[in-house]
Amino acid sequence: MPFDRFGSTSRSRFHFPVGPGGDPDCYLLGNSLGLQPRTAEGYVLSELRKWQTLASAAHFQGDDPWMPYHELLAEPLAEIVGSRPDEVVAMNSLTVNLHLMMATFYQPIGRRCKILMEANPFPSDFQAITTGLQCRGQEPEASLCIVPADPRTGQLSSVRLCEAIEMHRDELALIILPGVHFLTGEFLDLKELTAVAHQFEIPIGWDLAHAVGNVPLELHTWDVDFAVWCSYKYLNAGPGAIGGAFIHQRHGSNKLLPRLGGWWGHDKWTRFQMQPVFDPIPTAEGWQLSNPPILAMAPLRASLAEFQRAGGMSALRGRSLALVAFLEQLIETQLSGFIEIITPSDPHLRGSQLSLRLCRPKLDKGPLCDSKEVVQRLETVGVIADHRLPDVIRVALAPLYNIDTDAIRFVDALSRILKSST
Ligand SMILES: *Cc1c(COP(=O)(O)O)cnc(C)c1O
Repeated sequence: MPFDRFGSTSRSRFHFPVGPGGDPDCYLLGNSLGLQPRTAEGYVLSELRKWQTLASAAHFQGDDPWMPYHELLAEPLAEIVGSRPDEVVAMNSLTVNLHLMMATFYQPIGRRCKILMEANPFPSDFQAITTGLQCRGQEPEASLCIVPADPRTGQLSSVRLCEAIEMHRDELALIILPGVHFLTGEFLDLKELTAVAHQFEIPIGWDLAHAVGNVPLELHTWDVDFAVWCSYKYLNAGPGAIGGAFIHQRHGSNKLLPRLGGWWGHDKWTRFQMQPVFDPIPTAEGWQLSNPPILAMAPLRASLAEFQRAGGMSALRGRSLALVAFLEQLIETQLSGFIEIITPSDPHLRGSQLSLRLCRPKLDKGPLCDSKEVVQRLETVGVIADHRLPDVIRVALAPLYNIDTDAIRFVDALSRILKSST
């Protein structure tokens, strides 16, 4: 395996888009769409072949039969989120899974009818939570307890969230929070927040879109009630990839929990008796609805094998901490006055992403007026990052395939753009 100054990397095992000069891009978008593992094509082709040669028989015959295919994902996913294999299931997409989890875990009783969430969530989470409430006959305005970020730091801060939970404890039916915030990159203290929620007997669920495959997680030990995620970001499973969910075993084994059901969540041994009963599987699989998309699961297998090959999350976390600290230091020495880092500076409070705010006075003097224009200029030199208007640039150094020189290339390019435009 190739090396950089922070150890060995799996870089050569991924496809990189090629930039304007014919060189591989400096790709810093692993938090948005992870790169394709070189083995993914083989995994997908093998399923296409089985469909060609075996057709329906491939459900039961050949290598990796389709009937239990999703079970192949449980063990490697469990390693990534820190759970038992029967607590995780690859299914649907993140937003669908959030709706499914709300159907089970949002059980308002009297005054305890509110959902606590943050003020600046990813839009889909807000849309899912508010419309989910409406479907349950609740007014979103009256049923949400929204915690704003700290106006001084711009961070949510686990301490402030714990205080908000305690303050509103008698009104809360459910808490839904992001493991890592999509905009600021702040990594919340899942263990502490889960413990505080449970102290007041409030269930808590986590949106791990930006956390899964990025930061170390111990969902089982932390006693998290549920979590949902997508697999196209740090998990590199491809555009619109199949998502995932964690349901703690103490809930998964409870067949009496209310849920939105479907035949793939029904007992495997009687599923094909086609009877009008619902007997849920007593694991996370009991929340599956439909027979799963094999072609969408194949690239996830390829990517999860790369995580295992690289030594798992603890090895990757080590690389990530070193890469991000290196990038931070380059920004501080070469871009001070031009860039403010809005991601927490404490390494324990962040993952592989740094979010940068362009400093207004400098920006206002130059020809480039917002972060979109800056990101477009970066693209012309093969540096791929993303923007959130008006002034934020997000960059991620995915430890599976980004290396030290990606950080150097990014800071050199950004520095040239910002300094030439003032
Ligand atoms: C990426 C992301 C999503 C995406 O939802 P899909 O249902 O997979 O399209 C949702 N929530 C957060 C916080 C995200 O970062």
